[in-house]
Amino acid sequence: MFRTRFAPSPNGSLHLGHAWAAIVAHDLARKRGGEFLVRVEDIDGARSRAELADEHLADLDWLGLHWDGPVVRQSERLESYAAAADRLRHMGLLYPCQCTRADVLAAAHADGPDGPLYPGTCRGRDMDSHGAAWRLDMAKSAALVGPLIWHDEIAGEQTARPELFGDVVLVRKDAPASYHLAATIDDAADSITLVTRGADLFAATHVHRLLQALLGLPVPVWHHHALLVEADGKKLAKRRGSPSLADRRRAGEDGRALADALRAGHFPAGISLGTGVGGGT
Ligand code: GLU
Repeated sequence: MFRTRFAPSPNGSLHLGHAWAAIVAHDLARKRGGEFLVRVEDIDGARSRAELADEHLADLDWLGLHWDGPVVRQSERLESYAAAADRLRHMGLLYPCQCTRADVLAAAHADGPDGPLYPGTCRGRDMDSHGAAWRLDMAKSAALVGPLIWHDEIAGEQTARPELFGDVVLVRKDAPASYHLAATIDDAADSITLVTRGADLFAATHVHRLLQALLGLPVPVWHHHALLVEADGKKLAKRRGSPSLADRRRAGEDGRALADALRAGHFPAGISLGTGVGGGT
């Protein structure tokens, strides 16, 4: 069964950029006779708020984007993330790291796709793992699985380059899994065949492809769509008081009409569709 998903994080209100991402995932599923799943990415205990998850679902409903099956919540799947981390630990691929954000910033010599590149300070150190983050030994992992390929519907075939990220965090100090680990496990658990998400997460797929190989998970196809951008070309964010979807909904705007306008390429003044990685939507 062809299946896509929209995976909002309930740490802020949704805006037009999220509406666009949800429309892409929803419409691809409908066009191809498949299913559209909604997954609430709520494992960030410090920032996730249950009422925002409810707000997001109400927004999707208002836009006329109806999902198939029950809504999936990451907070109900913590054991599966812990089990995957254990497996990688037993393979000798994870190591504890006590570095703070400031430590990483001070030690980094270069930037990776997610910011300052961690230079491996704690790798090979004997340390107390209590309260530590757990990082993937990237060189060892990549050597174990060999070269990997993944396919993006828009950008075409890609050679995985997870080394761009260095030793990524898979288990956070403050959360049972990082985005990379949780999203990869969930896309497999949810039988997602086409992972649709914004082109800003294109590079993350290199890591996800590696994790699939390490954990023996099925490999979907990806569709990294172009993002809505502001006049200065920057990714649309909730700023300058631009209304959230919930604001628009509560003000009585017609959500289905808004979704149709976006589909037709009619964006509000100053907003347009960026070029994306592969140049399309
Ligand atoms: N939860 C992520 C976000 O809100 C989406 C991640 C994904 O689609 O893989 O940006």
